[in-house]
Amino acid sequence: MTTWSQLREVQPVATRMLQNSIVKNRIAHAYLFHGPKGTGKEKASLLFAMRYFCENVEDGSSYPCHECSSCKRIQSGNHPDLHLIKPEGQSIKKDQIGYLQKEYTYTGLESNQKVYILYEAEKMTTNAANRLLKFLEEPSRQTIAILITENMGSVLNTILSRCQRIQFHPLKDHDLYEQFAKTGVPESTARIFAALNIDLNQGEGLSQDSWFAEARRIVIQLIDKVMNPKEEGYLFLHQVWLNHFQERHQQELGIDLLLLWYQDLISYHLDRHHMIVLTDQQDKLEQYQYAISLSEAKTCVYELLQTKRKLAYNVHNTLAMEHLVLQLQR
Ligand SMILES: [Zn+2]
Repeated sequence: MTTWSQLREVQPVATRMLQNSIVKNRIAHAYLFHGPKGTGKEKASLLFAMRYFCENVEDGSSYPCHECSSCKRIQSGNHPDLHLIKPEGQSIKKDQIGYLQKEYTYTGLESNQKVYILYEAEKMTTNAANRLLKFLEEPSRQTIAILITENMGSVLNTILSRCQRIQFHPLKDHDLYEQFAKTGVPESTARIFAALNIDLNQGEGLSQDSWFAEARRIVIQLIDKVMNPKEEGYLFLHQVWLNHFQERHQQELGIDLLLLWYQDLISYHLDRHHMIVLTDQQDKLEQYQYAISLSEAKTCVYELLQTKRKLAYNVHNTLAMEHLVLQLQR
C-alpha cells in the first residue's frame, strides 16, 4: 500500500491538498479526483479512506497507521463502511447508486462514518447521475464521496459543481521511469514504459510477461526485414507478426514500439542521443541511419501514426499492417 510520502513524490499538489484538508479538519463531502490513467487517483482515494477510518490516528496527522484492523481491512478490500462502485458492463447504473442510498439510511456498521468511491464516474448513466445528485444534495454529515475519472468533460456539470476537484497531473517521463525502477523493472524496459506512458500496474504485469519480451524481439525483426530489400517483410508480417499481436491492445502496443524505434532513429540523426529510449538498439540505429534519411524516417513515423488512427477507427488490422509494411519497406 502506498503512503502519502510516496504519493507526494509524483503528485505534490494533490497530495498536499488532501493532507491539508485532513489535518485542518476541512474534509469535503464530495471529491472529484480527475487526471489520466496511472496517476495515483485510486491509491489516493484508498489512502484517504484509510486515514479516515484508522483507529490509531493522532490529531494533526494525515497518516494512517497501516496496522490497525480498520487499516488492514481496507488493504484487504473488506471494510464494511467503505464502498467501491465500478461500472457494471459499460456503465454505472441507477440501481448501483440506489443500493448505496439504501445502505446509507442504515447507520454505519462499524460507526456512523461512510466513504464511497466511484470509479470511472463518467460512466454513470443519466439516471444514475441524477440519483447521485440527490444524494450529494443532502449530504449526511459523516459521508464522504470520492468520484474518480479520467474524463472530467463527461461528468455532468451539476455533479462537478458539488465536488471539490483535485487534479492529478500526468507523470513526467522521468518520474514514471523512477517509479518503475523502484519496483525492480529492468532499466531498458522502464524507459520504454515511461516513454509510452504505461501505468505502473500495467507495466509491472507486462515486464513479467514473456509475451512482451517476445514482442520487443519481433518489432526489431520486422525492422530488419523492412530495412533490407531482399528480406520478405510481407511474409514475416503474416507468419510472425499477426500471430503475436492479436488483441487490439497488443496491436496498438506493437505500433507504439515501432514508433519508438523510428523516433529514436530521428533522435540519432539529429544528434540528440540523450533522447534515445531504446538504448540497447544503439548499434542498429547507427547502422540504419545510413540506409534511411531523416526525412524518410519522419515519413515512417507519419505512416505509423496513420496506422494507429486506422486501428482506432476499426480498420481491419491485417489490411492496416499490410499497408504499413509496404510503406516502411526500403
Ligand atoms: Zn490504522
